[in-house]
Amino acid sequence: MTTRYTIAVLEGDGIGPEIMAAALKVLDACASDTVAFDLRVVPFGGQAYFDTGSVLPAETLDACDAADAILKGPIGLSYEDSQKIPVDAQPERAGLLPLRQRYRTFANFRPVYLPPELVHFSPLKERVVAGGIDIMMIRELVGGLYFGEKEEGIDAQGRRYVKETLEYDDDEIRQVMVVAFDEARKRGKLLHNVHKSNVLKSSVLWNSVCSEVHSEYPDVDLRHIIVDAAATALILNPRQFDVMVMENMFGDILSDLGGGLLGSLGLMPSASVGPEKALYEPSHGSAPDIAGQGIANPYSMIGSVALMLDKSFGMERTAHAIWEAMRQVFAAGYTTPDLGDPEEDLTPISTLAFADRVVEALDGLLAEEKS
Ligand code: NAD
Repeated sequence: MTTRYTIAVLEGDGIGPEIMAAALKVLDACASDTVAFDLRVVPFGGQAYFDTGSVLPAETLDACDAADAILKGPIGLSYEDSQKIPVDAQPERAGLLPLRQRYRTFANFRPVYLPPELVHFSPLKERVVAGGIDIMMIRELVGGLYFGEKEEGIDAQGRRYVKETLEYDDDEIRQVMVVAFDEARKRGKLLHNVHKSNVLKSSVLWNSVCSEVHSEYPDVDLRHIIVDAAATALILNPRQFDVMVMENMFGDILSDLGGGLLGSLGLMPSASVGPEKALYEPSHGSAPDIAGQGIANPYSMIGSVALMLDKSFGMERTAHAIWEAMRQVFAAGYTTPDLGDPEEDLTPISTLAFADRVVEALDGLLAEEKS
């Protein structure tokens, strides 16, 4: 019998369609007699706005509602092009945030991973990253400043003002803490809680709920770290971290720092998990500066496919084979140009050539597993 999974495919803007094409080649290689993927490709993002008048058309919402999982490329336009869309209709505000909110994808997993043999990709000194980097950042994704009430206007003195609110309640904090402690328990039993309780009251509540949940996980070593100190510590000694949990905006910023540790934002896949559905997407943006050149790194998009197979479809071994196939391609000296270093003996290849090599390695690994 064949199990069929329906996937809503949102290619997005900029490099989105290029890295999605690469990722779909890899997904196709994971289909078999027993597993099939039904893809529904639908418009989403800035281009969708120009084509349909909405960054998130009704057709896209229908496809996402009906799908078992959502695979999404990056959205967003260059600063100049984004000025052609009214502020409230722009891709992130009118597309991405409503999508995350619709499926309440509160737990965003962002692996910051570089195996020992690939540490030369990192801009950090070898002694700092020797042995590799392996951090799971967990970002709360549907609360905080990005979703709080907003107000703007002119005050009594005639000055323009804006007010944005940061809100969390203890249920919202608890649900992401449980995910973080569970993840820490599965991994190295070490959790860093990132906060700013010396300034923000929201962090005082955040830390208090964190400590309450900790009482249910006495086997996990919990350490609290202030967000600014965490930024420094990630650069000076990233290997001290295993699982990190943080609120929405801290996670947005620190996870891009994570991409910097690895050498490219192109190495950052992510999974955003909600109670009934999950959304898989690269952590980076649409990279308008390199769009259309066929040189974007598809690792983050292919990694998002691996996360989807693992977390939504229970295909853990196939997911593991995808990570291993990508590692083999890098280890053989092939990379997209973002990771190329003139001093290293690396061969720059295109987005699709990278995917082809991953598929070749994956075919071998999956065949080995069957035999
Ligand atoms: P960006 O992440 O798109 O790019 C930052 C830098 O990283 C650029 O130099 C880019 O070339 C490089 N880069 C990113 N991904 C890469 C990849 N896969 N391979 C090689 N290089 C890569 O950030 P930005 O330039 O600040 O934003 C561009 C647009 O993306 C904006 O409209 C922004 O709003 C949007 N954005 C969307 C998301 C999302 O869809 N989740 C996330 C972040 C930014």
